[in-house]
Amino acid sequence: MSVLWTETDLIQATNGIFPCSTSIKGNGISIDTRSIEKGDIFVAIIGENSDGHAYVQKALDAGAACAIVSHPISEIPDTAPILYVKDTLQALTDMGRYARNRFTGKVIAITGSVGKTTTKEMLKMTLSAYGTVHAAAGSHNNHLGVPLTLARLPKDTDFCICEIGMNHIGEIAPLATFVSPHIAIITEVASSHLGYMQNLDNIAKEKSQIIIALPPQAVALVPETIYGLDIFQGIAKQYQVQLQTVGASKAASVQISNIDLGAQQSNFQISIQKQDYAFTLSSPGEHLIRNAGLVIGAIHALRLDIQQAITTLVDFQTGNGRGKILSLPTINGRILDESYNASTLSISTALKTLSLLAPARKIVILGDIMELGDFSEQEHLSLLPHLIANADLVFCCGSMMHIVFEQLPQPLRGGWCATAQELIPFIQSQLQENDTLLVKGSNSMRMNSIVTTLTAPE
Ligand code: ATP
Ligand code: MG
Repeated sequence: MSVLWTETDLIQATNGIFPCSTSIKGNGISIDTRSIEKGDIFVAIIGENSDGHAYVQKALDAGAACAIVSHPISEIPDTAPILYVKDTLQALTDMGRYARNRFTGKVIAITGSVGKTTTKEMLKMTLSAYGTVHAAAGSHNNHLGVPLTLARLPKDTDFCICEIGMNHIGEIAPLATFVSPHIAIITEVASSHLGYMQNLDNIAKEKSQIIIALPPQAVALVPETIYGLDIFQGIAKQYQVQLQTVGASKAASVQISNIDLGAQQSNFQISIQKQDYAFTLSSPGEHLIRNAGLVIGAIHALRLDIQQAITTLVDFQTGNGRGKILSLPTINGRILDESYNASTLSISTALKTLSLLAPARKIVILGDIMELGDFSEQEHLSLLPHLIANADLVFCCGSMMHIVFEQLPQPLRGGWCATAQELIPFIQSQLQENDTLLVKGSNSMRMNSIVTTLTAPE
């Protein structure tokens, strides 16, 4: 593999000053010395809580090929490989643009209110069967994560997958232009971040900016049931993009039919351009079928062999905290671990998956959903019918889930506490043989502490 960043690349990309005479062979990018690897370029980002400039020596000690800084650091010798720039975040963004401009492979961008990372991981796994793939790490999808993803993009890779996120109006357009994708996927439009976005139309319009960033005749994929389909259709027409849909209707570009949802796997059929394919996913959940349909649409748009993609995706497993099923040997039970994050839509989706999984009692453990602003109470309360339909016992934590808890019918009320940590002993005291648990809440509610404690060996 060729070197990712040389000193010539860095100077050209950032317009920075590199007084040292050492030649650089940078093989990765790091903004955090806790995860830095030998040969990384360390970019000293000034964040809200910490300043990367304080960690430059640590980065060099750990084997960084170079550090990018915006001011001299007294104790660092003149001979150290330091690149001086005006603004380190801007330098990272410039590096992302440079790496994107020299890249000759295909770029696929994914946005959506839920399902971005899951769909990205599915697409990454699928595309790996056809060539080399570079994809965003974790949920790197904002003004920092997207430049990081692009700055790490090797020029000789075949495919690049970027995740583009937002929580405020105006965030998608610059990131989408920066990524400059060949294909776009919009997974869903739902009430995530409604507090900032005010209504679903605004969310759909924001997501549609990814279509504007596509070249004419390129393909954008959406589920046919997505909120704001008319908005996407209008924008696609205006910018001469082919909007392709995934869904059950005959009109869908990727048609999904004969769905058989099981606890171990889902079986269904995908039809595309009058060709039918039998599909099995060994991770349960209807939402994964929709995500897989979007992936197949992208594979088709790339003119790759669809049967190969279907064969690869059979073994797809959901990521940590995003629907992983963990065993609870002490009670011969299981946890559907959805603790990574939550929105109203992903909770109702996870409740349906729980119902598929549970042979006996369904225990639901929920923490507050953040960033819903004035809509918070109404959004939380909208979960009530889903809980009544799918849960046998409910535990809640957080002030918003308290409102939900109070409105639950008495037999469903397992317990409420302010925090996840306080809730754990109440849950433990009520567990029975064969229970299946769902744990879900916004990341800041630390619902993963419940999963960690319950699954810890005795
Ligand atoms: P974030 O913005 O928090 O990074 P994300 O958009 O990357 O979220 P994922 O991490 O892929 O979303 O999924 C979050 C949760 O949403 C999953 O745990 C699952 O419960 C649910 N989910 C995934 N895909 C879908 C979908 N297509 N429809 C509804 N829910 C989904
Ligand atoms: Mg994500």
